[in-house]
Amino acid sequence: MDVNAITEKLIRGELIDEAGFAELIRADSPELRAALAGAAREKCRAVYGNAVHIRGLIEFTNYCKNNCFYCGIRAGCKSAERYRLSEEEILSCCREGYELGFRTFVLQGGEDPFFTPERIENIVRAIKKAHPDCAVTLSVGEHPKEVYALWKQAGADRYLLRHETADKAHYESLHPAEMSFENRMRCLRDLRALGYQVGCGMMVGSPGQMPETLARDLVFIQSFRPEMVGIGPFIPAKDTPFESEKAGTLEMTLLLLSVIRLILPEVLLPATTALGTIHPRGREMGILAGANVCMPNLSPVSVRKKYALYDNKICTGDEAAQCLGCLGARIRSVGGEIVIARGDSKLKP
Ligand code: SAH
Repeated sequence: MDVNAITEKLIRGELIDEAGFAELIRADSPELRAALAGAAREKCRAVYGNAVHIRGLIEFTNYCKNNCFYCGIRAGCKSAERYRLSEEEILSCCREGYELGFRTFVLQGGEDPFFTPERIENIVRAIKKAHPDCAVTLSVGEHPKEVYALWKQAGADRYLLRHETADKAHYESLHPAEMSFENRMRCLRDLRALGYQVGCGMMVGSPGQMPETLARDLVFIQSFRPEMVGIGPFIPAKDTPFESEKAGTLEMTLLLLSVIRLILPEVLLPATTALGTIHPRGREMGILAGANVCMPNLSPVSVRKKYALYDNKICTGDEAAQCLGCLGARIRSVGGEIVIARGDSKLKP
């Protein structure tokens, strides 16, 4: 099938197969990106208007027991300066965030055994008690179904767990043998079954990734129908096995944002910090390509530089309020408007 036919099918909301997605990816060009972005923007506007939802990101620990080859806070990264926030510090980030208009808090961290299921349960309960009108999103990696159930019971609404890649062989080239593709997918299914709003996603341009690999991710997204999809370029991190690899590109990330918006018009799609890191206007371009979520950092400024998943991460020096002011102006510059709302997904099951 030729690329125009695939594009038209995609815009009409018809299913595309792996070969079709791979063809679209291989055909990447400024013209194709512009056509897809225009259609994606239109679909996004039809569902969400010009609203851009904000989520306050609290990076509460950079200790991690895992050793993902790409990640700057992997256990084996000796140069990472480790930190943990206390429950009181986390709650104070939420209080500050609430004042600024955040109604979703995302607790993200490494897989840190100090934060036992009970500790996280208590934190979720405390946040929901202090801010019953807010959504709590967890992003703390792979756990047994019982643990996810415990946190759901405590009031957690959403869970972000990027699938990282839907290709088993590629998954194994990005992770050590102790981690498995099957368990990652098991986690996503369990989260879904427990009633979480679920976010998956992948890095763009991870070492060894091919058009076919990304096509497989798109087919997975098309069938799993997550409420949220987080994608951003891979960016090498120092002192990791991938420190000398090439970063993913702005262009491919933008193309994929548009394709994902067209696959799932109701999806919540962030213009990620990684996208803002590889280009000074990356997040704005992400919104123009179909993204409708931004996740500014609410972590205390003293720890921000330490949550270094990759090198040269942006917004590590600003106070939360400055960060939001700057972001609001950026979003308005591309016709978007920040809204004060939980911003739940409009995806129908
Ligand atoms: N421990 C949690 C949170 C991981 S950090 C979990 O397992 O879900 C959040 C995301 O950052 C990861 O899922 C990964 O896709 C992304 N990430 C990690 N290292 C990166 C890098 N070097 N470049 C770009 N993104 C990276």
